[in-house]
Amino acid sequence: MPSSRSGSIFHVALLAVAACGAPGPGDAVAPGQASGPPPVAVTPVTTAAPVAPRSANQALAVSRAAARPGSAGPIEVAVTVDDLPAHGPVPAGVTRLAIHQEFLKVFRAHAVPQVYGFLNAAKLAEHPEDRAALEAWVAAGHPLGNHTYSHPHLEQIGLDAYLGEIDRNEPLLRALMGKADERTWKVFRYPFLKEGHDLPSRNAIRAHLAGHGYRIAQVTIDFADWAWNEPYTRCMERRDEEAIKVLERAFVNYGRASLQWSDATARQTYGRPIKHVLLLHVGAFDARAMDRLLTAYEKEGVRWVSLDEALSDPVYATDTGFTATWGQSMLEQMTEAHAAPHPPYIPLPTGFLRVLCRPEYSGAVPGASAP
Ligand SMILES: [Zn+2]
Repeated sequence: MPSSRSGSIFHVALLAVAACGAPGPGDAVAPGQASGPPPVAVTPVTTAAPVAPRSANQALAVSRAAARPGSAGPIEVAVTVDDLPAHGPVPAGVTRLAIHQEFLKVFRAHAVPQVYGFLNAAKLAEHPEDRAALEAWVAAGHPLGNHTYSHPHLEQIGLDAYLGEIDRNEPLLRALMGKADERTWKVFRYPFLKEGHDLPSRNAIRAHLAGHGYRIAQVTIDFADWAWNEPYTRCMERRDEEAIKVLERAFVNYGRASLQWSDATARQTYGRPIKHVLLLHVGAFDARAMDRLLTAYEKEGVRWVSLDEALSDPVYATDTGFTATWGQSMLEQMTEAHAAPHPPYIPLPTGFLRVLCRPEYSGAVPGASAP
């Protein structure tokens, strides 16, 4: 049975986190506020014309956007999902296929077009049954893209092996995408968003991708959605529905704040709104919270676009030239590489995510009762 902990200090603290509208990207805590040269001029300002809404939620998004002070129109966002067909731990009794089907159901309900699922073929070696999840994705009309064969760290395997990982993922992509033009699935998402630990490795990967006809699926909205899946599985094991609700609120609030951060940073960096790319992962908690997240984004004025449409924005034709052993979204790379001013980062609530539903923690909290 769920534990009753609503009056505990523990939950008061968690609710404070859940209610916090913290602007900021991912789990990377950036160095101090940067100052330096003015924003990098990339292209002339363009304003996207409103497009006829495809659903009631889209209509709400467009009308809210029109009402937002200072907003020239909806925030255009392409949804992308990484690590197909398996990401993170899964609560007992939940299949990978069911997780994918939940994603697909929510995308249909929100009329989200062309959601790329970025694939690691190695995952089928241990779980060939998960091929059904990939087939369901394609059957629903969404494409797959390349996320390397086994999701390696570049600095651990070296450049040559890394390039081989890109090629080794292709046979399964080709098989699953059937008659689709190669160009459809030759879209690459960097594992961990790491594009190169130095300029030679960064340039070599880019040259390999370009030489093989790939487009790069950059990311501009990354709120470390993956980090919610582990605590969710713990809470499911404990059947702590109350904690899961807290987790859901925190997820939506942090995701919303990251959207706001990315929209503001893009306007500051490029002098205009850009077409965004949202990074998600195919985890069990993501599936559970996806409908709430997309609804929250629509209330912020988001209009869903395809990745093809997002990548048509000229900002994606530029190379930030950023190198590091850690991964960052394109907007974070831009602000770091050019020391450009941006709204302050707010770090991921890692402490909350680390301790939630851990028996050793709840046992030490006044007022908390163990399940
Ligand atoms: Zn990944």
